[in-house]
Amino acid sequence: MRALICGAGIAGLALAWWLERDGWQVQLVEQADGPRDEGYMIDFFGSGYNAAARMGLLGALNAIQTPIKEVRYVDAAGKGRGRIDYAGLAATFDGRVFTFMRGDLEQVLRQALGDRVPIRHGLTVDAVADHHGGAEVTLSDGTVEQVHLLVGADGIHSRVRRLAFGPQQPLLRYLGCHSASYLFDDPHLAARIGQCAVAVAEPGRQLQVYPVPGGRLAAWLVHRTPDAGLPDDPRSAIMAAYAGMGPIADHALAQLPSGGGLYYDIVAQIELDRWCRGPVTLVGDSCQSVSLMAGQGASLAVAGAYVLAQELRHGGTPTEAAQRYQRRMLPFVRAKQRAGRRTAAWLLPRSHTGITVRAKALRLLDLPGGTQLLRPAAGPLRVSIVTPD
Ligand SMILES: Cc1cc2nc3c(=O)[nH]c(=O)nc-3n(C[C@H](O)[C@H](O)[C@H](O)COP(=O)(O)OP(=O)(O)OC[C@H]3O[C@@H](n4cnc5c(N)ncnc54)[C@H](O)[C@@H]3O)c2cc1C
Repeated sequence: MRALICGAGIAGLALAWWLERDGWQVQLVEQADGPRDEGYMIDFFGSGYNAAARMGLLGALNAIQTPIKEVRYVDAAGKGRGRIDYAGLAATFDGRVFTFMRGDLEQVLRQALGDRVPIRHGLTVDAVADHHGGAEVTLSDGTVEQVHLLVGADGIHSRVRRLAFGPQQPLLRYLGCHSASYLFDDPHLAARIGQCAVAVAEPGRQLQVYPVPGGRLAAWLVHRTPDAGLPDDPRSAIMAAYAGMGPIADHALAQLPSGGGLYYDIVAQIELDRWCRGPVTLVGDSCQSVSLMAGQGASLAVAGAYVLAQELRHGGTPTEAAQRYQRRMLPFVRAKQRAGRRTAAWLLPRSHTGITVRAKALRLLDLPGGTQLLRPAAGPLRVSIVTPD
């Protein structure tokens, strides 16, 4: 059986790993010219953690963890506005959680895949047509591939989804924010923040700086805006949106990359009732984006790849398997998306009052046993969709 996966991000790489292991001939095409190390720090737990354990990756993932002990919220003047103790947070998940950079996860998946599935960079899918129960796929270099299964693992703005399911709207639910992240070097700032993530929080905008392995720093920015479109010049948009947030923010903004290395996107969810159409199916953000408001996008991507591969292994046509995969994943993803929309006000308060309320709530977490308060939130996430087989 032959599969073509479009997108060598988290979902695409994980799926390629499983399909190759199950005896499929897999082709992976990726529009970027090489591996991408942009992206922010992610907490990786729940179903994705379980799926990664089955891939034998826990050791490699442990090795890429970021050295962060706590997140400290401050205002522009540097005054404390609450903190989160990461060790306490890990206890909420019984230690089954990793914190690492998205790009490092991509690298671990690439290494696990080795050269068994070559990645064809600088390519995308230009057209898809039905072909004897499978798909005839025209790639952007003009080559045509006939496969039993085409998978769109090409992220939130998926081209495969557009080709197979029609225009993006109204599937894309914009959550009112833009987000950006980048890596930079600033030894002075690195020494100042040590093993803390420092988040400068103001109404409707937040800029967080934290250390990453190798002595570098990362910045993660998120701000509210009614504009659902991407700016022509993300760099200028960032300089305007985060001006006047105090010295830590100014240091970080001074290091904003001018060429590559900057991730910038809208914060949005994808709500799609059908994830497969004939021999075409979607995996990861292309069908199930929960957004950073919910977190767990990478974890869900790894889990979704596992569930799709598992269903393909269990027999029937690829279309039947993809339908079973969708039935298993969809309720879980919808619940996660709803939870994400509810936590948006917590993650990015709109007002000074909201920031104060968050600071008070964070103080409760600092009390002995306080992180138990997070259990109700963590609980549903730990209901595993990855059942032992
Ligand atoms: C460089 C990068 C940085 C990110 N940083 C953040 C972040 O800071 N915060 C956050 O919340 N989420 C971020 N994300 C999204 C996050 O990785 C996903 O939510 C999650 O990991 C789900 O993974 P995915 O594989 O479904 O999608 P993604 O990780 O987005 O991977 C999609 C892959 O498909 C490729 N691709 C896209 N379009 C095409 C196309 N037309 N043809 C071929 N290939 C294509 C992309 O280059 C990428 O490699 C980032 C994604 C990328 C690619």
